[in-house]
Amino acid sequence: MIGKGIAKGMVETARNLVGSFHESERMVTVEYPEQKIPAKESARNFPFLVYDGDDWQTGLRCVSCQICEKECPPQCIYIEKDSEKKPDFLGKPQFQPKIFDIDVSVCMGCQICVEVCPFESIRMDREFEYAGTDRFNDMLFSKESLAKSNSYYHQIHPTEATETDAIREDKRQAHILKERAKAEKLAKAKQEAMEKKAEASSTD
Ligand code: SF4
Ligand code: SF4
Repeated sequence: MIGKGIAKGMVETARNLVGSFHESERMVTVEYPEQKIPAKESARNFPFLVYDGDDWQTGLRCVSCQICEKECPPQCIYIEKDSEKKPDFLGKPQFQPKIFDIDVSVCMGCQICVEVCPFESIRMDREFEYAGTDRFNDMLFSKESLAKSNSYYHQIHPTEATETDAIREDKRQAHILKERAKAEKLAKAKQEAMEKKAEASSTD
C-alpha cells in the first residue's frame, strides 16, 4: 500500500529529527561546507595525473600515448605530444604531453581513462569541490593542475596506490632481467665471433 510506505518514512524522519537532539547516531547530516564527512577510500570523482618524486615536470608518468583520450566516452581529454622524449621509470625514452587538458565540466567520472592507461599514470581523485564563474576556463584543467604526487595518491587511496607501486616494481624487475639477458646474449655472440675469427686465422 502506497500510503503505508509514506507513513513509515515520515515516522523514521520524525524519529531522526527528534532523536538528533538526544542521540549522536541520529545526526545523519552535517552542516556542509563548515562540516564535512571524511571521504571513504573508495570515493572517486575526477582524474588526476600521477608524478613520482618532487618535481611534477620530470616525474610525470604520462607518456602521451593518447589511449585515454581515444577511449574517454564524452571526449573530454585533449592531449598534444611534446616533440622531445624523456626517460621513463625504466630508462626508456618516451614522449611527454605538451598539453594534457581535461574538461571536468564534461567528465562523468567513469574511470575508463584509468582502466585503459598502460602506464599507471592517471588515477581518480576524491576532490569534488570545484566551482568557477567561467564555464570554459575555470573547468578546463591543464596538466599543471592535474599533476599530483604519488605520496598524495597513497594518502587518498593507500591500498590501490600500494598495489600500483607493486605493479611498477614488477615491471622494473622484468625490465632488468630482460636487459641482462640481452647483454648476456650479445656478449656470447661477440665471444663466438672472436673464437671463430681466431680459429680461422689459426687454420690459415
Ligand atoms: S573519468 Fe571518464 S569521462 Fe572523465 S576523463 Fe576519464 S574517461 Fe573521460
Ligand atoms: S594518462 Fe596514460 S593512457 Fe593517457 S596518455 Fe598518459 S600514459 Fe597514455
